[in-house]
Amino acid sequence: MLLSRDFINYSEILSQLVNEENELNQDILAFCFNLFDSETFIKALSILESRNLFLYLFTPVPLLETNANQQETLLSSFYKNQNDSQYLKRIIIKENNEKDIVFVDLDSWYCGCEEHNRKYRDSMDDLSSLVEKKQELNTSQNKTMYFSQPPQEPEDFFAKIPASKQYDSSCKIMCPHLLAAAILLQSSMAVFQHFLTKKETCYIIKVESMDEWLRLQCNIVV
Ligand SMILES: [Zn+2]
Repeated sequence: MLLSRDFINYSEILSQLVNEENELNQDILAFCFNLFDSETFIKALSILESRNLFLYLFTPVPLLETNANQQETLLSSFYKNQNDSQYLKRIIIKENNEKDIVFVDLDSWYCGCEEHNRKYRDSMDDLSSLVEKKQELNTSQNKTMYFSQPPQEPEDFFAKIPASKQYDSSCKIMCPHLLAAAILLQSSMAVFQHFLTKKETCYIIKVESMDEWLRLQCNIVV
């Protein structure tokens, strides 16, 4: 179970996963091993290092002829403004046998894997049992069982749902795919660059055609 955000800033901790030498920080790795469910964290790290995570980015502006500096600028702009409507992203993770493909939607904290769906069903069962006990769901006490209000400063981006400006109860609904995607996109630019452009163990694929993008939404991998 994750600790309260009153005591810990997950984004801040995850942002230190990569040190100044662009290597994984072993002390932070050990800390995260205990901070998260250890098996989930190990699997998430494995996903990030196994060349099985693909970040599709819809960019209506042609980028084929852009140089490295412009590409870097684009990625930096995307990372900082990824919740803006101008940037559309879709995360696909291949399982080890490469036959199974999992789609991850960080903005709604959803993953298509069996583990996430099972945990989501379990959380709904918990909610149903609360209803059956006739507990008042609109009380602030019960709301915080599933969502928590963001802290004031500094801002924690981890597991944040942009539309609601709240955090998912990630202690209940967490899977390795969501954790891997969150480490990549909800920690720091340094971590993002480490896996995508420095180590290149994750891939970013730019989609410039709306037709291709729509096919991707129908689970047709381009
Ligand atoms: Zn998953």
